Amino acid sequence: WAKADGKGRWTLFDPERNAHRMTRQALSSTLRAAVERGEFLLEYQPLVGLGDGGLHGVEALVRWRHPQFGVLTPNRFIGLAEEDGSIVQLGRWVLRTACRQARRWQLDHPDVPPVYVSVNVAVRQVWDSDLVADVAEILAETGLAPRLLQLELTESAVMGSAGRPLQALSDMGVRIAIDDFGTGYSNLAYLSRLPVSVLKLDGSFVHGFRYEEGAHPNPADEVIVEALVQLAHRLGLTVTAECVETSGQADRLRRIGCDTAQGWLYSRPVAPERVSDMLTAGVCPRA
Ligand code: C2E
Ligand code: MG
Ligand code: MG
Ligand code: MG
Repeated sequence: WAKADGKGRWTLFDPERNAHRMTRQALSSTLRAAVERGEFLLEYQPLVGLGDGGLHGVEALVRWRHPQFGVLTPNRFIGLAEEDGSIVQLGRWVLRTACRQARRWQLDHPDVPPVYVSVNVAVRQVWDSDLVADVAEILAETGLAPRLLQLELTESAVMGSAGRPLQALSDMGVRIAIDDFGTGYSNLAYLSRLPVSVLKLDGSFVHGFRYEEGAHPNPADEVIVEALVQLAHRLGLTVTAECVETSGQADRLRRIGCDTAQGWLYSRPVAPERVSDMLTAGVCPRA
């Protein structure tokens, strides 16, 4: 087999690429039904206070327990779900499940401060569905306090002038976070105009914080993060660092004044029962 690559040249048929395309098609055609069949599950990753080492919140991360392909991580299907629109239905399920779970933890662990749940929201959920109505309904139904819900949107979703729904959510008491901050062409001016209260610094910044042997530190990342944290604080925002894998990184982030951290140093994304264990023990392991 050989095929033209569009520039008049001939390249070898790539079986891996074809398998990938077939998998994409297989996944896409079953996404909608999978939501109805209940094939998705959520894992939760701790968000730890750098100042007190406490478990402040968790991020809900969706997985697909596919009958044929096993457990799939979101990078395999979220893009597809956005393309075919099933993200609206899936996103609603994620939101409801996460809020119900956060309320459950609060009821099961009345002696510890309640943890908030941070839920990823895709652009299409803001544009193609009534996110504000969905959130209001889910909070009422689950009994979760709005302040215990945080929504993570990407810069592009926020910049696409989703101003009005975001303002309504913020008025309700729900916190808005910008996810993967620093990966797009950040326009810092919008931060002061939109009801955003949290910046989640993209993991790529934290990668430059590695000074142990064999690592490749990028001192500029530290300068940038320090400036971003200062700016965020002056605008009244808090900062969460993603992908914190070493205690060296956590130390530097703490010194810089970053508020919260998330990453393998503390915990991988885990089942809800493991979060219960942490609440019982009163600590996040390794925090
Ligand atoms: P994200 O929101 O930036 O989530 C953080 C990702 O980084 C997660 O990948 C998490 O497992 C991974 N991670 C956490 N700590 C570390 C670390 O220390 N080192 C490294 N290398 N990685 C770490 P995951 O679970 O595969 O999710 C990937 C992306 O899928 C998420 O990125 C988010 O954009 C999207 N996603 C996940 N769940 C949902 C959802 O329910 N709805 C939507 N729309 N998107 C979702
Ligand atoms: Mg996120
Ligand atoms: Mg993120
Ligand atoms: Mg990320």
